[in-house]
Amino acid sequence: MRERLESVLAPFSSFDRVRPFLRRRLTSIFGHVVSDRDNLLVTDLYRYPTTAEFRQMLVFLRENFEFVTLSDVVSHFRDGAPLPEYPVFLSFDDGLRETADVIAPILKDLGIPATFFLTARALDNRYLFYGHRRSYLLTLVQTAEMRQSMRQSVGALLGLSEPEPALQMICQAFRRLSVHKSDDCARLDESAEALGVNWQEVLDAEQPFLSAKQAKALLSDGFSLGAHGTDHTKFAHLNETDRRRDLRRSLDFMAETFGLDGIAFCFPHSHKGVTRRWMTEQLAADPRLSIFFSTANYAPNDRVMVNRVCFDRPVDAVEPLDVGDILARSFLHSAVHHGGWRRAL
Ligand SMILES: [Zn+2]
Repeated sequence: MRERLESVLAPFSSFDRVRPFLRRRLTSIFGHVVSDRDNLLVTDLYRYPTTAEFRQMLVFLRENFEFVTLSDVVSHFRDGAPLPEYPVFLSFDDGLRETADVIAPILKDLGIPATFFLTARALDNRYLFYGHRRSYLLTLVQTAEMRQSMRQSVGALLGLSEPEPALQMICQAFRRLSVHKSDDCARLDESAEALGVNWQEVLDAEQPFLSAKQAKALLSDGFSLGAHGTDHTKFAHLNETDRRRDLRRSLDFMAETFGLDGIAFCFPHSHKGVTRRWMTEQLAADPRLSIFFSTANYAPNDRVMVNRVCFDRPVDAVEPLDVGDILARSFLHSAVHHGGWRRAL
């Protein structure tokens, strides 16, 4: 029923029609990478903006909104401090190297604030997320000339019954592996080994993540940092003890590495499975924690959690990035599914 309503309303959801509803409501938008080059770790996860698309997006946002900082957002939701009429908050997750190489220089050029949510174990290239591992292997098997014997052994590891599986079947089997299941992650690692891939060597060669030094430089440049878990595990897949431990270690890391206080925590993947009551308890228990962030588009925000719209698109998206369209569709989705028409600011 709700899906039907959403599809009926979709043709009418242009940005201009939706914009009046965004007045006095926080628009939060986030991504991961901006680059004109292929990033093998994410090319099979999402389509990220080119530098030209990113600049156009920022110009569009500046014309239609007023950028606010993390501290503006926290002060608003925790203490009732006012925000501009059309506030927009920009953030990036995962701490990939493009943050320092591409994103921060463009933001500095345009004078736009942003927050970077960092995953503790990824900083300084000590750990590779399983989503990145899967994307890397998918790209590798599609670009490299795979030897027959390799194809056979990877096919067997992925549970394919054909003795000589076609490349397409191997790719499909990789895509079926869940990065949230330990058995599937083990299969990914075994496949990597069969393909002669050593993850630490990939990390050393590609240096895909920020170093602590680069992240400190972002702070010095006036950007803000937040926590994004210890190893990017989705909280829905952690038990109660591990959730508390992951949150605490993530906050410890940000406090010890960057001397931060009043730390915002952004759930890896999403807050699915975590109640607002649990978040409220954590906020009361740890004074270093300021607020939570998640990914439920325009779902209502409050003093406990702020939701964000993702500007990454499906990997097969070909048309240029249209952030107005993304915001309009996200607002429509939230209005239909999360009661997002309600004033939430
Ligand atoms: Zn993330």
